Amino acid sequence: MGALFFPLFSSMKLCNSCGKCCEKAGNGGLSASAEEIDWWEIHRPDIFRYVDGNRIWVDPETSEYFPRCPWLRSSDDSSSLSCDIYHDRPEECRHYPIDIDQMLRDECEMLERRDLLDLKRAQRKLDQIMIDSRPLAGDGY
Ligand code: SF4
Ligand code: SF4
Repeated sequence: MGALFFPLFSSMKLCNSCGKCCEKAGNGGLSASAEEIDWWEIHRPDIFRYVDGNRIWVDPETSEYFPRCPWLRSSDDSSSLSCDIYHDRPEECRHYPIDIDQMLRDECEMLERRDLLDLKRAQRKLDQIMIDSRPLAGDGY
């Protein structure tokens, strides 16, 4: 597993746009609130066309979930991925990552080996990094 090769004494990095979290957002892996969906319907019909009821990122031709988020784009040199609807993406995307378990599951590249040695400290560091994006999530650690 990649974490074994992380340097021992460095600590959590900023997001490097590896896109691994977004890669897992297909096949119904993501949700949106009724308010978000209503907003897209009025202001972003291009986004809303991939909504079916309360399911998001659904192919309108088949009514099946896209296997991969349809808004994920590769850079020209394929070195990074970006979100085509960044400013209007779902809140679930804005709040990511919430906790260390989620980062481990998704192999998030923000994590360093040192973070795994003290999960409470790592969660506090994550909450600091995310302070402008979401409420604190560290109570469980
Ligand atoms: S909507 Fe954007 S941020 Fe959210 S999973 Fe798709 S590409 Fe990633
Ligand atoms: S998996 Fe982590 S490092 Fe990669 S894009 Fe998502 S938040 Fe950023």
